[in-house]
Amino acid sequence: MNSKLKLVKGDITKIEADAIVNAANSSLLGGGGVDGAIHRAGGQAILDDCIAIRNRQGGCKTGEAVITTAGKLPAKYVIHTVGPVYNGNKAEKEQLLANAYSNSLKLAVEHDIKTIAFPNISTGVYHFPKPRAAQIAVATVQDFLKQNNSIMQVTFVCFDDENYSLYADLLQLT
Ligand code: ADP
Repeated sequence: MNSKLKLVKGDITKIEADAIVNAANSSLLGGGGVDGAIHRAGGQAILDDCIAIRNRQGGCKTGEAVITTAGKLPAKYVIHTVGPVYNGNKAEKEQLLANAYSNSLKLAVEHDIKTIAFPNISTGVYHFPKPRAAQIAVATVQDFLKQNNSIMQVTFVCFDDENYSLYADLLQLT
């Protein structure tokens, strides 16, 4: 396994990284799944920052990313990215999922973030097929780390057994 990659099973709100990534929706106002968990555990400060971003730029488009405080979480920042809803145009959705990972990493570099943790973006209520989402996540992160030396650790945090075993298989090969 690439020494900068790490795999963890569990709850991303517990991770002590410089940044954790949220699988947000374009409203930035919170939702279910990992988004709900992050806002619940991090508290009002995260929502306040999200509302300020909304007022400035009107939310966050699919495949893009924005950054806020992490409030009460052990992480320093939350990077909110919006994965695609998996319906129609497979190639476009795959590109948008890759963009969600690479734009989160770009924003991390701009904020001097060295350690970052990702959930399995779009594989919950957005219904992206888990095996393909895992391939895209790992390939996009690997490509980014080849071009950029400033990120020291990327943790994939899997909440469910299926994602964990998919990532375990993929990461053994890297
Ligand atoms: P999306 O709308 O992008 O599909 P979801 O939050 O519905 O986002 O699901 C994305 C992934 O996050 C799913 O694989 C889900 O199992 C996982 N997840 C849910 N809660 C947590 C959590 N607390 N920590 C890490 N991952 C989580």
